[in-house]
Amino acid sequence: MKRQGKPGRRRYLRRRLHRLLDGLLSIAVLLGASAVLMAALAPWEEAAPPEPVRPDSLTIYARNPAPAEPTAPAEPEPPREPVSRDSWSLILVNRWNPLPEDYSLQTVELQNGLQVDERCLCDLQAMLDACRAEGLSPVVCSAYRSRERQEELFSSRVDRLMAQGYSREEAEEETGKLTAFPGTSEHQTGLAVDIVDLNNQLLDESQEDTAVQRWLMAHSWEYGFILRYPSGKSEITGILYEPWHYRYVGRVDAERIHTLNICLEEYLSGTF
Ligand SMILES: [Zn+2]
Repeated sequence: MKRQGKPGRRRYLRRRLHRLLDGLLSIAVLLGASAVLMAALAPWEEAAPPEPVRPDSLTIYARNPAPAEPTAPAEPEPPREPVSRDSWSLILVNRWNPLPEDYSLQTVELQNGLQVDERCLCDLQAMLDACRAEGLSPVVCSAYRSRERQEELFSSRVDRLMAQGYSREEAEEETGKLTAFPGTSEHQTGLAVDIVDLNNQLLDESQEDTAVQRWLMAHSWEYGFILRYPSGKSEITGILYEPWHYRYVGRVDAERIHTLNICLEEYLSGTF
């Protein structure tokens, strides 16, 4: 039996070392190849982590859209607060809405003997005082009219036109453009006043150029009054433009109507 010498043992150890290194190298190559293969086959694992979602970011809706809700049909925007048609100050009187037969009111007398509904006196007085404080001269030339007075007024105008050759039907039609049929005049409510300028007391469109009308058109709403028959609204109001007829509706509603630039019929219909 031959005993292995030192050089033989060294060769033996070197061979073992080479084998060990070869083995380790093979494992490293295999691991590297596996990593490359995994990277090629599973690129999503390399994706960047999701960014933190900012609540105020619009992009989150694009990235994570919420499930679509059923679309409601478009509706007109309702008024901020519902208009109370039951309010005494919003009573609608026109050719299609006659005053109830049993309508009653408490009137008070103005200095010139005309009467108004007592509930609007305070604001009317405040409006006239403010107008006069500007050096102007407003004159209330018409206010509350009883049903009988309205009948007299209407029939006298019809008679005058018939005397000019109009038929009764034509005369009533023509008179109705400026004077309401009995029962359909706002003056019967005691909440309407005709105001003219002392320097021009004609009830025609020239009123709109007077200093008093310019002031009233700009400020009447501050006292609860609206220009009731504005230009361009005759089809809706049934009355031609009257730059002298003011109607009390109360300060809150007057401001809204003025701001919306609409007439009372439009305001009460709620379609603005
Ligand atoms: Zn009037």
